[in-house]
Amino acid sequence: MNDRTPRRTGPAEQLRAVGLRVTAPRVTTLDWLSGHPHSTADQVADGVRARLGSVSTQAVYDVLHVCTQHGLLRRIEPAGHPARYETRTADQHHHVVCRLCGRTEDVDDVVGADPCLDLPDASGFVVDGSEVVFWGLCPACTEAKDSVDA
Ligand SMILES: [Zn+2]
Ligand SMILES: [Zn+2]
Repeated sequence: MNDRTPRRTGPAEQLRAVGLRVTAPRVTTLDWLSGHPHSTADQVADGVRARLGSVSTQAVYDVLHVCTQHGLLRRIEPAGHPARYETRTADQHHHVVCRLCGRTEDVDDVVGADPCLDLPDASGFVVDGSEVVFWGLCPACTEAKDSVDA
């Protein structure tokens, strides 16, 4: 399997592949997040509880932590906003984040710039990745702002 193959394995297989025990909260968290990318830990906790019933918020936080550590989830931390999680870990795509509400979307193609920024001088660092966050206002916040201004 290489990275370009679309991932067809389910959450249980993914957990086993990285040596994690398969538990209902873990499977449900991965499954729910695959349909709700860029969700905050609180949103994930709500979503998982809606499916599983009694799961503590702390238990969901623990699942997010361990899955991120094992590379099953990617954690995005826009400055000044709660961290968000997604299951799309195979590439290093970039994000656009709303300054007001924190809504986060994928940016697949960066026009006019190499997304793998080429550093002429990295002060001796061996650079193996980059993370670009574009900031702006989402459509809903733009609309709300316009109606306030009017
Ligand atoms: Zn917004
Ligand atoms: Zn993303």
